[in-house]
Amino acid sequence: MPVFAYLLLLLMLQVWQPLHAATTVDALARQYFPQADSVSPFEGDPLAAAVYRQGKLLGYLLRTTDIAPIPAYSGEPITLLVGLDSAGIISGLEVTRHSEPILVVGVSEQDLRHYVDQYRGVSVQKQVKIGGAPREGYVTIDGISGASITAMVMNATVMKAVKKVAESRGIPLSGDSGMLVPATAAVAQADAEVAANAPAWWFGSSSEPFWVSVWRERVWQIAVLSCALAVLTVILLFQDWLARRPRLLRVVRTGFLLFTFCFIGWYALAQLSVIHVLTFINALLHQFSWESFLVDPLIFILWGFVALTLLLWGRGVYCGWLCPFGALQELIHQLAQRLGIREYRFPDVVHERLTALKYVIFVALFGLSLQSIGYAAKAAEVEPFKTVIVMHFIRDGLFLWYAAGLLLLAIFNRKFFCKYLCPLGAALAIPAPLRIFDWLRRRKECGRPCQICAIQCEVQAIRPTGEINPNECHYCLDCQVTYWDDHHCPPLSEKRIRREKSRAALELINK
Ligand code: SF4
Ligand code: SF4
Repeated sequence: MPVFAYLLLLLMLQVWQPLHAATTVDALARQYFPQADSVSPFEGDPLAAAVYRQGKLLGYLLRTTDIAPIPAYSGEPITLLVGLDSAGIISGLEVTRHSEPILVVGVSEQDLRHYVDQYRGVSVQKQVKIGGAPREGYVTIDGISGASITAMVMNATVMKAVKKVAESRGIPLSGDSGMLVPATAAVAQADAEVAANAPAWWFGSSSEPFWVSVWRERVWQIAVLSCALAVLTVILLFQDWLARRPRLLRVVRTGFLLFTFCFIGWYALAQLSVIHVLTFINALLHQFSWESFLVDPLIFILWGFVALTLLLWGRGVYCGWLCPFGALQELIHQLAQRLGIREYRFPDVVHERLTALKYVIFVALFGLSLQSIGYAAKAAEVEPFKTVIVMHFIRDGLFLWYAAGLLLLAIFNRKFFCKYLCPLGAALAIPAPLRIFDWLRRRKECGRPCQICAIQCEVQAIRPTGEINPNECHYCLDCQVTYWDDHHCPPLSEKRIRREKSRAALELINK
């Protein structure tokens, strides 16, 4: 464990450093304008910092949130520090602050780097459009796969901000066609373009909201997920019937876990994260809008389902059936068991204490999110979801080792990450005691003296005294299989033996 804690600490430090290093204005000024020897403070209207070499103006640095703070997916604007030279050419661009969950759990650093690098060399006289066929007067750039809305917001923010700075500082905004466009008209044109490309909810427009078109675009994925959730609901409603058919339950559960990992996880990238929880709380505390959550339909549907099942069944429905990383750990462990690899479990007293760790991590992330959702998003890399599910292991250094280490641990200790470290699991466990029903059956002999279910439970959620701890249960239904099995459950087995004996005695008498 100390080695693991050390690895965790290193990981936190690694995600911490770039955030601070990259945000220093001086460093970026020198990066965007290599000849620069001085930078003025941010001043003027709109705010911008002038960059000089020996008193000669080279260009400006601007923070997009000072000029065009367009709310993005998280409901908060993304801050980019942009370099604009005196000829109106973008000389550099860096995302210095954001609260976008998708940039943390859904987009690789390389993809984000590739996206922002496309703005270098773009003239303020041009319009930039994302994807599609080339158009005269426009520079076409690639979007960000899986984060099209965030890319659109960044494009609108950057182009609007640079045009406003250019207009105010006398940088020509006329096109290179020779046709003179008045500066104000160019800014108005930029505004019009932003308005045309932007989700309606940015401006309170009465036209069709942007999220509706996203839902339409992903209709078949929505249909597949909805069918899967309907199947899962049927499984949960008929859990007793299934638990009495262990072979069928094993096939159904393994099949569902494979679906969860392959479709929900690797294909649709719909891995829920603690960052969604923190963003939601943040939105409740500041400016809440349903539209910003509706822009990712699969995540929205999953959260809706999780909220409902939390009330009825507790956290286990998500952790035991719908979490792609949880499913992968479980599948790996099942395979290891088939290969005869021995499982190692911590003694109950150690296990109970270790389960508290995930709550500590969640509370730390929550505290951090109150200060800055951006920092919390970085620290949430304690979840290996981005590395394993979203980036398909194409990641370097410590992130890869960390994720691989957790999967290795899952071979020997079932769902190690879920039991002890997952902040999302902790966030889901906190409201678990509020659930309305207790659907998992217990006998009075459970725990006193029988320990069979407690030993079988994949996440050690059954206390030695026999009660199921709803905060830890992953709803695998293994204990329910034993509950109905008159060959494994001792009280039931006794009844069966008594029944068989009396039947045999009756048969003897009747002979
Ligand atoms: S504890 Fe975390 S990783 Fe495990 S299944 Fe739940 S959400 Fe997924
Ligand atoms: S064995 Fe029972 S208590 Fe343990 S996780 Fe599965 S359903 Fe929950």
